[in-house]
Order: sequence, then structure tokens, then C-alpha cells
Amino acid sequence: MSSAVDAFMEQVKTKNPGQPEFHQAVFEVVSSLMPVIEKNPKYDEYKILERIVEPERVIMFRVNWVDDKGEIQVNRGYRVQFNSAIGPYKGGLRFHRSVNLSILKFLGFEQIFKNALTTLPMGGGKGGSDFDPKGKSDNEVMKFCQSFMTELLKYIGPNTDVPAGDIGVGGREIGYLFGQYKRIRGEFTGVLTGKGRNWGGSIVRPEATGFGVIYFTEEMLKSKGESLDGKTVAISGFGNVAWGAVTKATALGANVVTISGPDGYIYDKDGIKGEKIDYMLEMRASRRDKVKDYADKFGVEFFPGKRPWVVKADVCVPCATQNELGKDDAENIIKNGAIAVCEGANMPCTPEATEIFINNKILYAPGKAANAGGVSVSGLEMTQNAMHIGWTAEEVDSKLHSIMQAIHAQCVEYGTEPDGYVNYVNGANIAGFIKVADSMIDQGVV
Ligand code: GLU
Repeated sequence: MSSAVDAFMEQVKTKNPGQPEFHQAVFEVVSSLMPVIEKNPKYDEYKILERIVEPERVIMFRVNWVDDKGEIQVNRGYRVQFNSAIGPYKGGLRFHRSVNLSILKFLGFEQIFKNALTTLPMGGGKGGSDFDPKGKSDNEVMKFCQSFMTELLKYIGPNTDVPAGDIGVGGREIGYLFGQYKRIRGEFTGVLTGKGRNWGGSIVRPEATGFGVIYFTEEMLKSKGESLDGKTVAISGFGNVAWGAVTKATALGANVVTISGPDGYIYDKDGIKGEKIDYMLEMRASRRDKVKDYADKFGVEFFPGKRPWVVKADVCVPCATQNELGKDDAENIIKNGAIAVCEGANMPCTPEATEIFINNKILYAPGKAANAGGVSVSGLEMTQNAMHIGWTAEEVDSKLHSIMQAIHAQCVEYGTEPDGYVNYVNGANIAGFIKVADSMIDQGVV
């Protein structure tokens, strides 16, 4: 079996040289799928694997804009329209200096399976730019967004491709992007999600990814007769996902003791609650990217340049970025007796770390299942826009909760091993794949 995976990966690497993150994401999915493909020859006959790793379309474009000093800046914009078998392309835009085609292809590929798991009709896509909003004025961000959208709008639409936020793209950016789309197209439609509440956004969208991760964690713990109440939780990141996760975990009785940023992590033994959670929003709005500010304000310990995985915690929730948690971190987490690791970010654990969690048979959920709450509420935003209505917070939150339970159930259905251990990686990959693959077969060779 593994020789089939190796042979397939050889082809992927030859066809997509210099894209390590994309190779990593494909390898993980294909490793889960090979047994399913071997049992179901139709997938091989229809060349589903070969087709699913090939984006339907990749758009790359120049983004020129003029900064506050009057200097011309040149960035690169992208949209990877990966798979539209089950719905319009759907996925965020990432603005970060690290953005390149490999990262966006990995994210777009993950999004195919994640979106399939949500139970909603959304295909997979991702986009962004190497533009770095850090240190830019509002005016500069607006100029960039307007230029970016002027090109992107040729390729998107409410029934074609619906972008949203990701790292570096929040409410401010979505506002500028939406304004430019509306101005040029002359259309007020749900072409983007994560919009402001006054102009078509869904309530609970800002919290959705973090809430969803914690709902998923609760489901995993429930399967072991446990709950988050009274548990110590370590979280990384301090942005949108981490904020939602801290809020919900604390509400469910957990003691969240860490958050982190590019500068290091903070350890707050009394728990991040009340005004401290609100301060996370202030930190994000300041755009300083420094969690040391939290330590200074609340007089807790700060560990410069370090990651929080040395801290003793029952549950670890990495919410920062890809490959932030490696082999040594995973060994520490196991040594410290953690019972669950639930990914809030996209692919935050390296393959070596993932292997350690699974070999030690602790509860471990991959991002494509656990962080699907964000895109799920984006899907609910699309529905509300299409119906020209707005649901209440209770309605959206309860739909989100049911979706996360449904994702968990799919992972259990497809990922339970003979000894009863649930391999959530296999479960998520297989459940997401079958829905997309069968739809591709139904729609013929397109
Ligand atoms: N960027 C988020 C994700 O990784 C949300 C995407 C969306 O809402 O379309 O799933």
C-alpha cells in the first residue's frame, strides 16, 4: 500500500516542483485514501486521485498600488479554484508575506475536504497575496484591496467563487474588497463572506472557527466520558481563531493558560477570562503582533521566542499557522499527559507530530475537521444572503453546533479502527473524499 502512495507522490512532486506544503497536504490525504481506492476500483477507473490533486484553475496576477509616500508597490495576487464538484469554490484569502503558490495550493486542497465535511454545498478554493498588512496604514490597505479586487472580480461571483478571510484578512479587508466589487459590478450580492453585520454579514461569523474547534473538542472528550469543565487548555495564536477558542473553552469551564504570537508565548495560570479575553481583541486591533503586551498588562510570565507546548495541559489547541507544532513539541505534549490535541489552524502539526499523537492513541483532530466551523458559518452567511434574511445568534450558533457534531460523527463513522480507536485524520479524509469523488463521477469527465 505504501508503495502505491510513494509512486503517486513521485508523480505529484514531479508535476509540482518546489511546493513542499502542497506535497505535505496531498501525502496526508492520499495515505488515508489508498485503502479506500483499493477496495473501490471505480475511483481508480475514473482517475479521481489524479484529477483531485490538479486545481481546476489557478489565477495569478500583478497587484500594483501606490503607498502613502507616493511610491509604487508591486505584489502578487492569487486565486486557486481547486474543485467545484459539490458547489461554488469557497475559501479564504490570506494576506501574509509568506504567501506563495505552494501554501495556497495546500490550503485550497485542504478546503475541498473541509467544505465537504460541513454538509453544505461548497467547493474548495483559496487565494491571497504576499502583501503584508502589518505596519500599513488603513489607506494603504484600502488601496491594495481595491487593486487586488479590480483583477479578482473577473473570476468570482456568488454562484462561482466566494472568498472570505484568513490570516491577514479580517473585517476591514473584507469591507474594502466588497466595496470595490460592488462599485465595479454594480451588484450587492453575497460574493464575499465575513462581511460586516450592517451589510449582509452573519452574526457569529467572527467567533465561528474558534467556537467550532471547541465544540469539536467537546465531542471528542464526550466520546471518552470527559468534558472541558475543569480542564487545563493550552492554545497558540492570538488572532481570530484563538480568540473564539479561548472564549468558548472558558465558557465551558476550562482554564486556558496560554496564547502565543510571533514574539513568544504567555503563561497565565489563573486563566484567560473576562477583560483578558477582550484584551486579545485590542492586541489584534493594534496590529503590533506582540503577545508580550498581554504579559505586561496583566503581570504574567512571557517566554520570548518559545512555543506553549512545554506547558502541562490536558488539551492543546494549536490556532496559529501551518507546521507550528513539531516532533519535540508532540513528545512534550505526550509526556505531559495531554488527552486531546485539536487543530484550530490549518495543518499546524507536522507529519512527525501527527504520527506521535496517533501512535500514542490520544484524541487528535486535524484542522480540516476541527476548524471547519468558520467556513460553515460562511456557508450559512451565503444562505442568508441568498434568502435576503438574517438569522439570530441562537439560530446560527445552534446550526454551527449541529454541523460540528455532524463532522465529528462522520470522522467516527469512517475513522474507527478495529480496536475502537478513532483515527480522525483517516475519518475526515475518507468522509470528505467520498462525497467529492462520487460527485465528480456523477458529473462525468469535466
Ligand atoms: N479561512 C477559513 C478557513 O480556513 C474560512 C474560509 C471561509 O470562510 O470561506 O476555513
